[in-house]
Amino acid sequence: SGDVVSGMLERIDADLIKFIRLQFTDILGIPKNVAIPVEQAEKALTEGIWFDGSSIEGFTRIEESDMLLKPDPATYAILPWRPQDGRVARFICDLQTYGGKPFEGDPRYVLKKTLAEAAKMGFSFNTGPELEFFLFQMQNGRPTTEFVDRGAYFDLAPNDAAEDVRREIVLALSDMGFEIEASHHEVAESQHEIDFKYSDALDTADKVITFKFAAKAIALKSGMHATFMPKPIGGINGSGMHTHGSLSKDGKNIFFDPNGDKQLSDTARYYIGGLLHHARAITRVANPTINSYKRLVPGYEAPVYVSWSTANRSALIRVPAARGNSTRAEFRSPDPTCNPYLTFASMLAAGLDGIKNKIEPPESTDVNIFHMTATERKNLGITMLPGSLYEAHEALLADPVITNTLGNHVVSGLSAITTAEHDSFRMAVHPWEIERYLNTF
Ligand code: MG
Ligand code: MG
Ligand code: MG
Repeated sequence: SGDVVSGMLERIDADLIKFIRLQFTDILGIPKNVAIPVEQAEKALTEGIWFDGSSIEGFTRIEESDMLLKPDPATYAILPWRPQDGRVARFICDLQTYGGKPFEGDPRYVLKKTLAEAAKMGFSFNTGPELEFFLFQMQNGRPTTEFVDRGAYFDLAPNDAAEDVRREIVLALSDMGFEIEASHHEVAESQHEIDFKYSDALDTADKVITFKFAAKAIALKSGMHATFMPKPIGGINGSGMHTHGSLSKDGKNIFFDPNGDKQLSDTARYYIGGLLHHARAITRVANPTINSYKRLVPGYEAPVYVSWSTANRSALIRVPAARGNSTRAEFRSPDPTCNPYLTFASMLAAGLDGIKNKIEPPESTDVNIFHMTATERKNLGITMLPGSLYEAHEALLADPVITNTLGNHVVSGLSAITTAEHDSFRMAVHPWEIERYLNTF
């Protein structure tokens, strides 16, 4: 590791870096960082940097607030939108407490721990998230919900401004080491999607965090606000973060079996069985805001029912047509407000539980579930995703596989957040209520 440190220091020097951002996330998945001058780089890379963790959401009690930031050298990236004279680089950090113990409330640790469980079974876990977002106008320094374009799915040049911003975001992400696969206008007005190549779940979780703040920083340069809020506007599509997942062993995809039903292996089927079995609990982390549940409704290409399919997009899990090394399951419920570390860890734990306990998924459904009657759904064993954050949290607390994966620290943090959000929302009087009742009663 001495070699890694000196190699890293040489690179920092060659890149003319003046400031280093030490980055991590709280349990909401909000990126946090502290900047250090480049002179502190050696110390950061060898000993780490202590900071006060008491003010970070869901982190620690006041009396034990000191936390050590340990930069992960693999995450080094220059922030391309910052000044190029006196450049800024960042590292994503692991968090430790006294004596070098990993901090249990660190979402990145939760994912690393779960990946280590999978590694004991010989598996590595790949994810490929598809992030959707809206670009809205800024007015007087504040974000609005005014569209910047009226384009629709796959439209060309709906509006020069939006097209150019999407291009700028793609260029910046490429500079930061992303392999961008596609970018396009999404279904709703002013809605966009940028897809990057799948890889190891830790790497893609890091990239989801980077993606969101890079998109925001670049949109702002053009006077636009990029939002990952799942349902900013009622009556049109919301933004999802469909996540493709697969397991490999010795570098080989183990979901593919040319002789299996649908050319899927038993492992793939049990993974899907596990993911469906724990889907209601996972919703708490995959859909972590009050607003998330405004997206999970019929009619907007977002899932509502717990089911799987090889064909239709009304299912919660879809197995895309590609086979061989590309065989994978697309989990369609997550939205981009999720903490990707906690979401990928929960998905993996659910899949592994399915494999260990040979959980058979219900029959796949290749028709539009939204067109079925309640009785037809019941006969096929199709249940519903939770309808609110509160209900999702209850489902989480009832699921020991997922709570054990997240650990006590994170679960109690999520409990506190659920109560606070639920109470605050319950006490607000919404415009809908005024419109509905003010005149009638
Ligand atoms: Mg897509
Ligand atoms: Mg999409
Ligand atoms: Mg998709």
